[in-house]
Amino acid sequence: MYDLLIRNGTVVDGSGNPRYRADVAIQDGRIAAIGDVSGRAKRELNAEGQVVTPGFIDGHTHLDAQMHWDPLGSSSCWQGITTAVMGNCGFTLAPSSKSRRGLVVRNLERAEDISGAAMEAGIDWRWTTFREYLDVIDALPKGINYASNVGHSALRTFVMGEAAFERACNDDELALMRRELNDALAAGAIGFTTSRGEGHATSDDRPVASRLADWEEIRQLVLEMRHYEGRVFELAPPSASRFGDIEVRRRFHNELLNLSLASGATVTWGLIPLAGVTAEELPLLDRAAASGAKLIGQSHSRGIYLLYSFLTTMPYDWLPEWKKIRSLPIPQQCQALKDPNVRRTLFESAKNAVFTEAPTADSPRAPDFEQMVVWQNALPPNPTMKDMAAQRGVHPIELFIDLAAETNLEQFFYQPGLRWDMDALVEAMRHPHCVMTFSDAGAHVTQQECSLQTYLLAHWVRQKQAFTLEEAVRMITLAPAKVWGFHDRGLLREGMVADINVFDPDRITPTLPVLLHDLPTGAPRLESRAEGILATIVGGEITIQNGEHTGALPGRLIRR
Ligand SMILES: [Zn+2]
Repeated sequence: MYDLLIRNGTVVDGSGNPRYRADVAIQDGRIAAIGDVSGRAKRELNAEGQVVTPGFIDGHTHLDAQMHWDPLGSSSCWQGITTAVMGNCGFTLAPSSKSRRGLVVRNLERAEDISGAAMEAGIDWRWTTFREYLDVIDALPKGINYASNVGHSALRTFVMGEAAFERACNDDELALMRRELNDALAAGAIGFTTSRGEGHATSDDRPVASRLADWEEIRQLVLEMRHYEGRVFELAPPSASRFGDIEVRRRFHNELLNLSLASGATVTWGLIPLAGVTAEELPLLDRAAASGAKLIGQSHSRGIYLLYSFLTTMPYDWLPEWKKIRSLPIPQQCQALKDPNVRRTLFESAKNAVFTEAPTADSPRAPDFEQMVVWQNALPPNPTMKDMAAQRGVHPIELFIDLAAETNLEQFFYQPGLRWDMDALVEAMRHPHCVMTFSDAGAHVTQQECSLQTYLLAHWVRQKQAFTLEEAVRMITLAPAKVWGFHDRGLLREGMVADINVFDPDRITPTLPVLLHDLPTGAPRLESRAEGILATIVGGEITIQNGEHTGALPGRLIRR
């Protein structure tokens, strides 16, 4: 007697091979049989008209804080994610003593847009070392599986305290970091991560701790991974590695390649899909592979973007005239936007606003009305601000205000972080040494949503036919499983862990995000759900059925 039998489905097994009709039987959390299964089961799921795939794996999340107060792992769980890698870009909650947790939170709070107060209220800080931290999260109830990297910013802060934000380390401090990193890797950390990215600043406008390290410190730490098999070094690269001088770019790329060769670790980072950048970084990935190094680009299915709305942030919030209105409670803002005088004041001040030439990640950027869309439909097409304003015969700034007033402030606007290049985006997705991941789930909680995987299946497979379903499923199952070393996941085969999605390929789609106020302090975050997924199964148990949580929390901590 099987525990669960998925009958009459079409198996898309994660390998990229063509689909086939088969039943999938599950016992003791693993796949027991695939084919024409005659045995009986305690529970059956009729998957007629549906495809049965491995659960989706997301290699780039920041669910580190959220998993402490949200056992389910939303919104990732709604997107068919069954395994998430945390601790990216140098940010983890461990190692850290209780007395220094304020410093660790300082690293995370603004860089990843996660409320510091929510972290204070929602995390029971019962660890000092990374090893102890793994034991704590191992015991927490979980709706999805997690694996965690060790974050460089936390490691530095743990060893150096306040000095981590001020200077390079000395030899003694490096020795302590190496020791703690070794212990973390031995305890099952999946890799080591850092950030050189200028966008990663603290709430008091300083670089996060990892950015104070020199390259030698990073090199020494990454080299520790040579003692451990199959680990990953993830980094948020400095902008000079993409936009700087050609010599700087070349040197940086060579450093990464050599570091992978010397440490045996897979080196991975998020790609920016701009033609100039991918033209250099994609060949780098090929060159690395040819020389025996493992460099993996993380591609994205939408491209990095920012969401604006009157419920969250608007590009003009820094203007005094806007501040006055935007600091009011929501109902009063709605009321105020009906007043022609208020509207005129907002319009005039926004129209005359002077944005800085070279904005940092946090400084406001002038809205690009040709690219920004009014987010009315979960999938394209959506009207651009420019077109819709022209249609209504108003200025795009007036359109902002009109649409906010018409929707109780709920209208979202969606602006590319940098000018999108769809050809570069698809080229990166298609590249053999790229993995489609980089959702940043758990971070940027009011600025981005995380429906990358369902968007891939709905937009790029169904709408655009840029990928076959088999190719796309492989990109979000077996491909990330290989990079992050989940040897018994990402593929539907007998003996593999039964992390599975059952969905309708003609219907699967993300839905428009909704703003919730469900962080531990009532702070807001965006929730992204999906439609068309009949069931998500984690370790053999159905966790989500028809968009509802079944109550099951079978997720595990995956240690290396
Ligand atoms: Zn990140």
